[in-house]
Amino acid sequence: SPPSMKTFNSGGGGRTGRVPVGIGRKRLRIVVTGGAGFVGSHLVDKLIGRGDEVIVIDNFFTGRKENLVHLFSNPRFELIRHDVVEPILLEVDHIYHLACPASPVHYKYNPFYKTNVMGTLNMLGLAKRVGARFLLTSTSEVYGDPLEHPQKETYWGNVNPIGERSCYDEGKRTAETLAMDYHRGAGVEVRIARIFNTYGPRMCLDDGRVVSNFVAQTIRKHPMTVYGDGKQTRSFQYVSDLVEGLVALMENDHVGPFNLGNPGEFTMLELAEVVKEVIDPSATIEFKPNTADDPHKRKPDISKAKELLNWEPKISLREGLPRMVSDFRNRILNEDEASTA
Ligand code: NAD
Ligand code: UDP
Ligand code: UDP
Repeated sequence: SPPSMKTFNSGGGGRTGRVPVGIGRKRLRIVVTGGAGFVGSHLVDKLIGRGDEVIVIDNFFTGRKENLVHLFSNPRFELIRHDVVEPILLEVDHIYHLACPASPVHYKYNPFYKTNVMGTLNMLGLAKRVGARFLLTSTSEVYGDPLEHPQKETYWGNVNPIGERSCYDEGKRTAETLAMDYHRGAGVEVRIARIFNTYGPRMCLDDGRVVSNFVAQTIRKHPMTVYGDGKQTRSFQYVSDLVEGLVALMENDHVGPFNLGNPGEFTMLELAEVVKEVIDPSATIEFKPNTADDPHKRKPDISKAKELLNWEPKISLREGLPRMVSDFRNRILNEDEASTA
């Protein structure tokens, strides 16, 4: 290996000297790239909670230490500031590869495609070297503006290769290709999840995704910004359902890809109604121009995950939205205090 590689070998546990956790299972050492982000930090909570050792790799591009600060004193937790575009040496059993900024707002500001390609390549190289199992968090965006509805895993997608979002959707398509390449060519144990729109506490306040926008706007007593005519649809999954799905996928024998999402489908106008209903009946909306290449509709067909992973989401939009409100209120309050201090 090149001498420039960072090496981290915290002794004990890991692949060589696993420590038993509870009955019948060995403690695993697990890497979560992007673990300081929204989904990643909830996944880390789950893995630490069940007794495993977790190493987070994150460059804090969109993630925040605050999402993990409650784990800093835990001896089974480790946080490494590192960009996955650079190689890294670790000894681990499982790799959950989430690192990738997940919002359209960031598309123009970052070498996005490079993170998807180089970052995924490095994590697959690591998986190959140490014989770790590798899970890729791909996205429903690989289906593009879909011509099949709802989307099954067999659908190949309708993607603009040179559009404004292509760094994201083509980036994830390439990441899937790389994963399958390492699976077929090098025998790496690979798992591919195609995640549909997910929401919950710790979402970035300002990354432009529709649920976080509507909730933050409503708390700030601003109108909710509906893009276009608001008739485009999405299916919104609560984050704990996704975390259950990711863990089920990692621990099963199927490569995938698997759609992980909530099949409940809403137009943006309906979403605004639900936000109004559960957060503030006096909330209002305003229309704004839509972004380029915005998919008209999206809804997962999750029969494959139901059948093979015995997984399905449990939390409806009306149940999930209220669970993110206090976290959003607190963060917005802190921002206001900081700005007036
Ligand atoms: P997020 O932006 O909150 O988290 C991404 C994390 O990756 C952040 O902590 C960020 O700092 C880190 N990161 C970005 N580039 C990095 C790099 N080069 N090196 C190291 N760390 C880096 O986003 P999220 O919603 O938690 O998404 C997590 C994963 O799930 C992403 O791969 C995303 O594509 C996928 N996904 C999410 C959704 C969703 O609705 N949230 C939908 C589909 C797919
Ligand atoms: N890699 C890494 N950590 C490892 C092993 C590999 O970051 O533990 C990187 C490596 O630097 C390379 C990529 O993963 O850029 C792919 O590795 P692989 O061994 O598959 O390819 P090669 O080194 O032969 O190009
Ligand atoms: N959207 C909206 N208002 C906003 C932000 C987004 O109406 O303030 C719309 C956007 O045009 C898209 C949908 O909500 O049709 C979902 O957008 P998001 O960026 O959350 O997710 P993605 O497009 O990646 O599915």
